[in-house]
Amino acid sequence: MDGQERRSIIHVDMDAFFASVEQLDNPALRGRPVIVGGSPRARGVVSTASYEARRFGVRSAMPTGRALALCPSAVLLTPRMQRYVDISKQVRRVLRDYTDLIEPVSLDEAFLDVTAAVDRTGRTATVMAREIKDRVARETGLTASVGVAPNKLLAKLASDLKKPDGFVVLDEAAAERLLPEMPVRQLWGIGAKTELSLHRIGVFTIGDLRRMDEGLLSRLFGRRAEELALLARGIDHRPVEPRQEVKSVGAETTFPDDVRDRERLAAAIGGFADEVADRLREHRLLARTVTVKVRLADFTNLTRSQTLQSPTDEEDVLRAAAVILLERAVPGGRPVRLIGLAVSNFLRPGDYYQAGLPF
Ligand SMILES: [Mg+2]
Repeated sequence: MDGQERRSIIHVDMDAFFASVEQLDNPALRGRPVIVGGSPRARGVVSTASYEARRFGVRSAMPTGRALALCPSAVLLTPRMQRYVDISKQVRRVLRDYTDLIEPVSLDEAFLDVTAAVDRTGRTATVMAREIKDRVARETGLTASVGVAPNKLLAKLASDLKKPDGFVVLDEAAAERLLPEMPVRQLWGIGAKTELSLHRIGVFTIGDLRRMDEGLLSRLFGRRAEELALLARGIDHRPVEPRQEVKSVGAETTFPDDVRDRERLAAAIGGFADEVADRLREHRLLARTVTVKVRLADFTNLTRSQTLQSPTDEEDVLRAAAVILLERAVPGGRPVRLIGLAVSNFLRPGDYYQAGLPF
């Protein structure tokens, strides 16, 4: 197919993970709507809702206040990250018996490339995936949905098809039957915003996307157009990457006037700390390095970085570090044109497993 060697990819996705762990640990919660998330008073959002709560329309990333309005009988619980990390490690140990090529997407989700293991053992990916699913259930007491396919895109679609407790093998022929009818949102990289712009031009399904004129596609998606056209045909060359590349998360602003006032600078930095912390939590990342960037009125750029003692996603910690860095970065009283805050050097879900670090 498409000049690529054949691969065997498995996608393992724990069902309603945080909520399921809570129901596992507290039998009184089983069969009841459970929401794991932040307090509505602190403008918290839903991390995970149990399937009982999803029936009321509760979804991940929804403000907790709205979730409780939809489902007043739900039990709201604060996340116990350490417990989820521990179970995640248990799952990871099972996965590692099959391959080292594991790409954790989040604490509850991972891709495995078992191509070499299939060659080595003569067992099929389907047999291994079934065994993984059974072992995860036996060893953790929790269900996972598992998809098997020749690439990541199809493996993820497969694990999604029969959630919860699903097991779906999707070969190219099956994918070819299913893909054209699926909503465009199912394609990797199509978020809510892109979905909306596609809907506006009458593109609702992956089949619609396939029929789109090439020129229009590239006007809408630029360099991504070609990849998207391939994905729409079920072709995905992305490798399973045991480590994701390091990125940074940041925010910056250019002032309408040059600012000398320390309090105004500190206030701006404080606002960035909130924003950056939100985004870290959203991506379930912890950052080790904090960097403050300053551009003076004369366009001199200055940066100061600090590596924290323990990785964090807390605004207070970021703010404290950033304010000190700001003091160091800006020589007294010089007018500032732009300031920014960035964090990097992330601890990823994959590292939690490896290092066994507490949050
Ligand atoms: Mg999941």
